[in-house]
Amino acid sequence: MSRVAYVNGQYVPYAQAGVHVEDRGFQFADGVYEVVAITDGGFVDLQGHLVRLERSLDELRIDRPMTRAALSVVLRETVRRNRVRNGSVYLQITRGAAKREFAFPAGIGPTVVAIARPLDWNKAAANAAKGVAAITQPDIRWGRCDIKTVGLLPAALAKQAAKEAGAYEAWLVDEKGFVTEGSSSNAWIVTKENVLVTRAPSTEILSGITRAAVLELAKREGLKVEFRAFSVTEAQAAKEAFVSSATSYVIPVVTLDGKPIGNGGPGVVASKLRSLYEAHAASHSTDWQAPFIAP
Ligand code: PMP
Repeated sequence: MSRVAYVNGQYVPYAQAGVHVEDRGFQFADGVYEVVAITDGGFVDLQGHLVRLERSLDELRIDRPMTRAALSVVLRETVRRNRVRNGSVYLQITRGAAKREFAFPAGIGPTVVAIARPLDWNKAAANAAKGVAAITQPDIRWGRCDIKTVGLLPAALAKQAAKEAGAYEAWLVDEKGFVTEGSSSNAWIVTKENVLVTRAPSTEILSGITRAAVLELAKREGLKVEFRAFSVTEAQAAKEAFVSSATSYVIPVVTLDGKPIGNGGPGVVASKLRSLYEAHAASHSTDWQAPFIAP
């Protein structure tokens, strides 16, 4: 099957798709992105992702290249042309290409790129069924983790450490010993009293769109939720732990730095939240979609 990428207004063959060598995304990580899941040909929580994207652009004073409706058309068309029924679509917008200077150049327009690729949801489901291992890593990221920038080097280093340790995810830990979030997911625990705990939205974490949906689903189930930081020790002593993200939905974490959490298998609450989120994703709900929760 021939793949295509969207690059600045055109759909081009994947092998030939490229941006300028002086694109500021390439030189300064001066750009933002979103990843939206696709199930059975439909987007999952698209609106929330687009709202967060606009906020990321605004925070960095990158011009919005087009309306939210026009961006949706680009994403839909990228998915259609690549015949992706189950997978994800990646959208990246940078400040644009210009002679390399740190300050914002005048008179340039943003670069817009979109690619779609298939994803085997069964693999995520299999991970969820047995639960995954996580390790901890120091959170060495910058002070605006609420902006979804393409500056992902600390996240890539943490994920590589996890991979080398045979783990699925790295939980990032602040200077006080509290978990901020995963390298590419939000982190949650369930206390002995069945209370869900996840860090409050702030500049220290990315406010996940999946997390927002899971919060809503949890509240509908009558579960109590606390927005607060938790330590590595508290997580290891918790009843359950899990991660949430657009391409993994909800996945139980069953060991942290080798220590079993709860009974060492996927917990009841995480498994329930996963099945609720799967149903929400499959419904391609237009009644409600996860909002973006601003810090
Ligand atoms: N935190 C970080 C650092 C992430 O990279 C991601 C996934 N992009 C998330 C949280 C989860 O966000 P979402 O649910 O919107 O995918």
